Amino acid sequence: MPPRDYTVEARRRVPAAKKRIEPLIGRLAAEHSDAKIALHFSSDVELLVAVMLSAQTTDVNVNRVTERLFRKYRRPDDYLAVAPEELERDIFATGFYRQKARSIRGAMAALVEQHEGRVPRSVEDLVRLPGVGRKTANVVAAELGEAQGIVVDTHVRRLSQRLDLSREQDPVKIERDLMRLVPREQWRLFPHLLIWHGRRVCDARRPVCDRCVVSDLCPSSRE
Ligand code: SF4
Repeated sequence: MPPRDYTVEARRRVPAAKKRIEPLIGRLAAEHSDAKIALHFSSDVELLVAVMLSAQTTDVNVNRVTERLFRKYRRPDDYLAVAPEELERDIFATGFYRQKARSIRGAMAALVEQHEGRVPRSVEDLVRLPGVGRKTANVVAAELGEAQGIVVDTHVRRLSQRLDLSREQDPVKIERDLMRLVPREQWRLFPHLLIWHGRRVCDARRPVCDRCVVSDLCPSSRE
């Protein structure tokens, strides 16, 4: 007799992902009605810079740095008007400051030279900016009201796998699976719901399944 496969058994206990996605979104939206981007910004350029700075650090840390940064740098030109070392000092606390300063200056130069100083709306144009990857482009496009994909960060990846919405490891493939499942009008909200659920309930090491509103829809539930 073949050995029992508990993962397969658990997946059989819940309906297919297509049937679960609507109640999953509904319940998570009710539970985390305050779910939204945690970065502070008051313009498209500030949004782009904040998202670029958020790589490998926390949103809280970025907000601490940008509170002063955005008083000093208001337009793309401002980032190009100072010496690279000055910008590096101003963003030092976010880590990887040399690489981030180089990327920000490159992106700001491209905005000035190719986009009349404005942040483009399409993911296709955004990923052409120096230092802007697909995740950053997706976050920026979604916040500007033009979600063209689904942001996959560490929380979205973990929860998509635990909830069996994707069996992939690669963020690009996970995003592709989610885009097939999640209605387009929810592409902006959906990652925020998983991110906030991941932070508050479905922790990487200690998921609190007995307090989880989607426990009966989750094949990884310990309940
Ligand atoms: S039931 Fe547990 S593993 Fe599943 S989403 Fe909720 S907290 Fe995470």
